Amino acid sequence: MSNRLCFIGCFNKYDDADIVIFGAPFDGTASFRPGSRFAPQAMRVDSDGLETYSPYQNKDLTDFKICDTGDLLLPFGNTAAVLDAIRHRTQCIVDDGKRPVMLGGEHLVTLGAVRALAKAHDDLCILHFDAHADMRDEYLGEKLSHATVMRRVWDIVGDNRIFQLGIRSGERNEIAWGKDHVSTQFFDIDTLPDIINTLRGRPVYLSVDLDVIDPSEMPGTGTPEAGGISTARLIDYLQLLPNLNIAGADVVELSPPCDPNCISTMAACKVLREMLLAIG
Ligand code: MN
Ligand code: MN
Repeated sequence: MSNRLCFIGCFNKYDDADIVIFGAPFDGTASFRPGSRFAPQAMRVDSDGLETYSPYQNKDLTDFKICDTGDLLLPFGNTAAVLDAIRHRTQCIVDDGKRPVMLGGEHLVTLGAVRALAKAHDDLCILHFDAHADMRDEYLGEKLSHATVMRRVWDIVGDNRIFQLGIRSGERNEIAWGKDHVSTQFFDIDTLPDIINTLRGRPVYLSVDLDVIDPSEMPGTGTPEAGGISTARLIDYLQLLPNLNIAGADVVELSPPCDPNCISTMAACKVLREMLLAIG
């Protein structure tokens, strides 16, 4: 064990690890409040205030072989190069027979990881928790944006492969488009058991945009959207994940500069712990 900063309990060596965490500290397309580039390090620091043991699942992070490799060095200002660096790192982890868990960053980082995982699994499905549909074809003329990320993922995986939960915001056009191409639960996440039945045995990429949680509990995010679920409800439903074949996952859109009292960062850490334990 080195004294390099890592998420609590995730201090195993890379060669021994089954799950590999890396940070993608990019917020270059944030349209409202930037700052998610600081999320991975803030989560590592604040995770020290959390136990490795989960009373929810009766599991401990130290029961699993998880390695936190730190943050990618990303070329800011070059979105395509950033996505390629993420794709490359994800590919390396998958080629080494391990599972990647990425800490954003804004939501666009998901596209880099999906590019690699869709190559490894041609029937990849996406489980997407978010307040926002992220299904615009372009945003302010940009094809690559946190507001278009799931549309770009759809370009790769195609119809009936994306399952969205907790959605409560989008343009009329993007919501209408989604009806024919993706599965969407609006406002809540309680259809997850049905989705799990549909996805059983198939490779799944899990993407958790933390703004799915209500801003009263998760104010520290780039585009807070009122009317969301509670952190407790999300943690409840994450415990169903052992029934899925999770090929990779991410937690995105925490913005520490918008979180002066660390409430959101601590909640993000707890969501990540429960996620790691559920897929471990
Ligand atoms: Mn999003
Ligand atoms: Mn969102």
